[in-house]
Amino acid sequence: MDGFKCRRCGACCRIKNGIVRVGDAEISRIAAFLSVPEADFIERETEIAPDRAGLVLRSRPDGACVYLDEEKGCLIHPVKPDKCASFPFEWTNADSHEVCPALGAEK
Ligand code: SF4
Ligand code: SF4
Repeated sequence: MDGFKCRRCGACCRIKNGIVRVGDAEISRIAAFLSVPEADFIERETEIAPDRAGLVLRSRPDGACVYLDEEKGCLIHPVKPDKCASFPFEWTNADSHEVCPALGAEK
């Protein structure tokens, strides 16, 4: 993954049916960053994961993450969940090269 250059297109934040799990540490740091009580953050911006094993960030009806701003990008960038921060350096999946134009350019 040397030389990977993110184009900040946000395509990886708009994957329909994509999920971003958030654990206790991520919930704490995002809530602190947003200056909201953790319980409020959980109530408003997360939902039960499809497999019912924990929580995921809520998505908008079009599938985009609630924290994706079309102009500013990720609104919680400094504290974004580990899954977001580690893509594509630590993980990719079968669809990643279709989704991410910067990965496609690496082929
Ligand atoms: S938290 Fe940020 S980086 Fe992660 S999916 Fe949402 S907008 Fe994208
Ligand atoms: S899809 Fe790839 S290039 Fe676009 S924001 Fe995500 S990591 Fe960056």
